[in-house]
This record gives sequence, C-alpha cells and structure tokens, in this order.
Amino acid sequence: MLYTAAMRLRVEIHGAVQGVGFRPFVYRLATELGLNGWVINDSQGVFVEVEGSQPILQSFLDRLPAERPPRAIIQSLEAGWLEPVGYTTFEIRHSDNRGAKTVLVLPDIATCPDCLAEVLDPANCRYRYPFTNCTNCGPRFTIVESLPYDRPNTSMRRFRLCPACRSEYEDPRDRRFHAQPNACAVCGPALALYEPRQDGPDRPAPEAPPSVGAGKWAVTFEGDAALLQAAAALRAGRILAVKGLGGFHLMVDARNALAVTRLRERKQRPDRPFALMARDLEQVRSCCEVPPAAESLLASAEAPILLLRRRADAPVAAQVAPDNPYLGVMLAYTPLHHLLTRELDFPLVATSGNLRDEPICIDNAEALERLSGIADLFLVHDRPILRHADDSLAWILLDEPRLLRRARGYAPLPVLLDHSLPTVLAVGAHLKNTVALSVERQVFISQHIGDLETPEAMSAFERVIADFLRLYEATPAAIAHDLHPDYLSTRWAREQTAQLIPVQHHHAHLAACLAENRVPGPALGVIWDGTGYGTDGTIWGGEFLLGDAAEYTRVAHLRPFRLPGGEAAIREPGRIALALLWELYGEAGLGHEYLPTVQAYRPAERRLLGQMLSRGVNSPLTTSAGRLFDGVAALIGLHQQVNFEGQAAIALEFVADETVEDAYPFPLLDRPASPAADMGSAAPLPFAPPAAPLILDWQPLVESILADLRRAVPASIMAARFHNALVEAIVAVAQAVAQAAGQPRVALSGGCFQNRLLTERAALRLRAAGFEVVLHRLVPPNDGCISLGQVAVAAARLMKGT
Ligand SMILES: [Zn+2]
Ligand SMILES: [Zn+2]
Repeated sequence: MLYTAAMRLRVEIHGAVQGVGFRPFVYRLATELGLNGWVINDSQGVFVEVEGSQPILQSFLDRLPAERPPRAIIQSLEAGWLEPVGYTTFEIRHSDNRGAKTVLVLPDIATCPDCLAEVLDPANCRYRYPFTNCTNCGPRFTIVESLPYDRPNTSMRRFRLCPACRSEYEDPRDRRFHAQPNACAVCGPALALYEPRQDGPDRPAPEAPPSVGAGKWAVTFEGDAALLQAAAALRAGRILAVKGLGGFHLMVDARNALAVTRLRERKQRPDRPFALMARDLEQVRSCCEVPPAAESLLASAEAPILLLRRRADAPVAAQVAPDNPYLGVMLAYTPLHHLLTRELDFPLVATSGNLRDEPICIDNAEALERLSGIADLFLVHDRPILRHADDSLAWILLDEPRLLRRARGYAPLPVLLDHSLPTVLAVGAHLKNTVALSVERQVFISQHIGDLETPEAMSAFERVIADFLRLYEATPAAIAHDLHPDYLSTRWAREQTAQLIPVQHHHAHLAACLAENRVPGPALGVIWDGTGYGTDGTIWGGEFLLGDAAEYTRVAHLRPFRLPGGEAAIREPGRIALALLWELYGEAGLGHEYLPTVQAYRPAERRLLGQMLSRGVNSPLTTSAGRLFDGVAALIGLHQQVNFEGQAAIALEFVADETVEDAYPFPLLDRPASPAADMGSAAPLPFAPPAAPLILDWQPLVESILADLRRAVPASIMAARFHNALVEAIVAVAQAVAQAAGQPRVALSGGCFQNRLLTERAALRLRAAGFEVVLHRLVPPNDGCISLGQVAVAAARLMKGT
C-alpha cells in the first residue's frame, strides 16, 4: 500500500444542519472514504475532524457540500488543516449545548415519499401509522423546546423509543438515524376520537348544534378506528376538528354546501375563502388549473396552500370561496392527512382551527374548549405541539412562487442579508402580525401570528417573542415598533426597557421589500395598503416613498379624502363612496339618487354622514389606496358593506374584464413646495427628491366613473378602467421621480399588491418603461412583512447612529 503522510482536517459547518441527517451523512461519507475521526453538533453548527491522506481529505471536503442531505442548508463551511492525532475509528459524538445559539431551527417538513410508501405498504411495520417520519421529513419547529435539536429537547421526550425504533435511531446507515420524532405504533403517539358524551344510543344528527365545553366530550375510538370513524363522519357531512402538525384544522366535505355553510355559521366567518386539502395532485387537477410550477410547489417539502384558478366543474361547493375565481389548495402533508384523505373520494375544506381571527388551537384541552361550538367531533393525538404554525399561503405571480402568508414550512428560517446587523427585535404591525429578530446576517421572522385584536392573539404574540429570545438567547440592542401609538404591539414595546425605534409603517414595507431582495437601495417604493399611521398623524396608504432602509422622502401620495366613522368606514365601503362624492360636490353629492351607494343609505343617514364630513368629526383624513379601492367598489355597486377588510377591493379585482385596455384619467398634480413635505429624517439624502409630494388626484377618475354609471357601463369595464388608471399612475409617478432624482428602481409593497391584476400590470408596464421592478418573494407584501422592514430600518439607524 502506497503510504502518503496523514493529515487532520477540521471542518465547521453552519446553517440548517440539524435534524436533516447531516451527521449520518458525514459518517457515511467518512467511512466510505476510509477516514477516521468524529462529527458532533452543538447549538452553533456541525463540527468534523477527519484524518487521512491529503487527496482523500480534499475529496471529502469537496463532497461534503456537494452531496449534502436534501433538507440541509449550508450557510458557511470553514476548513482548517492540522497535525494528525491518530484517530482509529469514526464516531458520532454526543451533542454539546454550550455557546451562542446560532444553528437554524428547521421548519416542519411534509411527509417524504419514502415514509409515505411505508405508511401505505401493508407489509411494512409502519403500515397506517399516522406519525411516521424520518430525517427527511416530519415535525421540527413545532416540537422543539430548546437547542440543540435532540430528542430530550423536543415534545417527543415523553415517548420512549421501542427497541426497533431505537436501533433505527442509533444506526448511522439508517434513514431514521437521530430522527428525533422517530416513532412507531408500538412506542409513539396515537390517535383518539372525541365525540359528544351521550346518554342514548343515537348519534346526533349532522345539523344538531355541537356540545359546548370541554367536559361534554369523551373518547369514543382510538388508533386506526378513530381515523376510520372520523372519515365516516366527514362523509356524513359533519365538521371534524383534526390536530395536525402546527395546530388544529376544521375539516368538512368540500362538496357539501350545507356542511360548508354550517362551518361558516359556527366559525362566524361568512365569506372569506376556505382552504382545501387534497389527497394528491390528481385531485387538485380535478378542482383547479395546475401549471407545472404549481405542481412542484404543491408537492414540495413546504407544501403551502397555493392559490390556483378554479375549474368550472370543480367538485367544490360555491360556499368554499364565494365569488372567487381561485381556490386555495394544499396537498396532504402528514401521514395522518394522507391516511384521512385516502379514505375519502372528495377534497376537504381544511381551515384553521380557530374562532374568527383568533390564533390556531394547538392543545387538545384548549381545542375541546375553544372549538366545542364549532366541531362535531375531534380527531386528536398525544404528541404535544409546542408552538403554532398555520399553513403557509403562496401564489405564483409573474412565473415565480411568492408567499402571501409565511408560516409552516418556511418559519423560522431566516432571511439572509448581505451584511451583519445589530440585534434588533421588531414587533410588527397590528394585522397579520409577525415578529422578527436579527442575529448577525440573519433575520428570523416568526410564523404568522395574526391580528392582535383578541387576548388570545396578544398572548400568542408575547409567547412567540419570549420563545424567539430564549431559542436564540438574544438580547436585543433595540426594539423596533410601528409609529402608531395605539397598536397593541407598540404598547407592548413601550413597556420594555430596551431602546425603542419607531418605524413608519410604509417605510417598513419599502425596507422589507429591499431587504429580502438584498437590494441595498435606494428605490422608489410604491407602498399601497389599507391603513398605516403617517408622520403627520393622518392615515397613509397610497404612498410613494423614495429612499432606503435608513431614510426616505414621501415624494407622492393620493389626494386625501375622509373616512366617515373611522374604523366603521372599513367595514362599510359605502361610507367611503359617499365621502368621495361629498369631497367633489359637497352636500349635493349625497343626493345623486341614481347611484347604488346613495340608494343604500336612508336620507337621514346621509345627512348624518354629511354633517360628520363637513365638521370633520370622527372622519380622519386618509391617502389610502386600499380605501380608494373600497370606495370605488361601493360606487359601482359591488359592496356597500363587507365582512372582512379588503373584501370590496377583491370583488373589484375579480369583476374586472382583463381584455379592457383603456384607463380612467388619474392625473399627477404638482403641488407647490410646502412645509408639509415630509422628510423621514433630517439627514441629507444621496439623491434629489422632488421639492414637495406630488398628488395623484382621483377627482377626474371618480367623475369618469359617475359618467360611466349614468351610461350603464358594465361593472367589469369600470373595474378594469380603474385598475388600468392605477397602473398608469404608478408609471407616471415613477417617471416623474426618475426625471427629478434619476431613480430607475421601483419596489412594490403593501396589501394592495396581493391584487394580481394590479401587480402584474404595474410590474410589466414599469419594466416596459425601463424600470427595474422589485417584488416580494419570501415575505408577503401585506403586513406580514412589517417586522422584517422594522428590523432593517432600526438596524440601519443604529449603524448610522441616527
Ligand atoms: Zn420521511
Ligand atoms: Zn417504536
């Protein structure tokens, strides 16, 4: 044997390298190459030492990143050469839990093909076992208590591995080597079915109201019998609460209009779309048009809900997504879901197990209490969920998958930046809240928490923050919060002792869009949403901000209008339409009896609204584009009242005829320089903004709509002309700003850019006009991105010392 001088190689790997089979992979590679040494992981990453000849060590070093396990993410790999010490074997050493916590916690991963095949194979010992998993799939984030990711630090601690599972767990050549949630029917979690306690032998009829209160429920079936009984209940049109990976779902037969309606009534959710869970791609294809990019996203390890165009013949009741050309569909993503959906030959409604907009239930007792007025029966298991993770929601826009809600499958993976940031905790917005924490180059963004409107949501918010700080052992240098003084997140921040950095809402949108795309800025941010607190105390939302993470100038905005009744106007777009009319024609505008909006209000109500508007009582000024959408939707007769924010605007999008090319006039007015020109910061900008904000005047636009209404032009044409007007206005402002400040980059952010028609047309028109367009991908354009933006702004200010 040819002898070459032995050397020792030391490798340090950081990233998502725990819970993905990284150590067994290193073991297999080292033993295959005949190398001796060891591998260990700790709370920072994976460390390897191997000894052998230099060419073989080099081959080891090359193959390490190239052949890494599919779910591993390597953020850095550092190697060093040392003198050999004479290792005689290769071993996997026990985890060490000292040091800073910078290793990535992985999100939960959809069932892998290998595990699914086992679950469906009658000859396999895991046949029909609903908690099958391996190092390539299964729960992670929702079962981790602390780092490093080892079984005693997870909610699997309570299940003692049986001899068969233990030998898999300890065998480096096994797919389940150190698969922390490894389990089987002998030793692992099990199913139970809760049904109403009853005295008589008869089951309650499907339409009977469910029992209320946790004490009204009793276990009636266990194991596979529980699953089969649950499937039978779904076939019978009953509402099933199912404990899954990151919380409970409420499920019902998606074809059954009565059952879906009953779920809507009990959940007090009259018309927001419900998501569907499908057995396989074939079932998705029976419901929706599925382009190739959609197939791979649906079947991905992240397995989000994907918005797809609904087929006319979809076996889905209209009540699942009323008046909506799209359906949100996900594939079964745990063995439990696979087994349940395979018992049924129809798609299921699978909506979050919560009441209205409260956080999703994760605990059995809590679910039996909180969902007891909604579900007819509960399919639960005894693997505790340590933190909630809603289903993520994605869409494919301009050929790229993009997120609209970032949770299961994505959180808590960080957004990676180009440079290291000070440690900042950001508490997010009020609606669609997420929180974020920067640790060096990484910004960890929490799973979707939801609207901070209820005590349950507030406690979930506080729990997630405590969880983040504990998991990453971080001490923030500052806490970033929204400028709005009444947001509960702002109030929470003000009770803390850390340095506070208030961040304007729309500036956070711009900074988030730039940060996730790693654009250092500056850019023209077109930030259109429903509501954000402006630096002048009015409600902003139709904003053009020129700047970067550190500073911005408000270069243009919509002409302001009033929201009579404030919050009430959000629920009642008819009020906004009347406010627009009042702005143009005064009292007389409220007497245009030919308008559906005017007809919807009694003369006395109109008089009252007119008084509010003329006195400016409880009628805050706004420049919100979202509210202009609402007002126009009401004006053309789509919705005078809504059940959720954005409903009228969504209706306006869906009614629009996409073949219409012409646009209403929406002129850009120059306004003389005035002290009202808002400077985001006193520091000089590296570019020359226009002297004062330009104003987009909606008066000619509204007048044209009124003219079309008098001529009985169809709503589909009016809606399209309105969308086209907004697109042209965006391009006009971008061109004006480019002329004044030479800025060729435009970032689109804010809830309005969940509108496909608006976003696609704006992006394409801007690109055609020579602009570089920056769009969200990893975080949503809605307020789910605010925490990332707050981190970026606060960190930029800390670094600049401003
Ligand atoms: Zn697996
Ligand atoms: Zn076992």
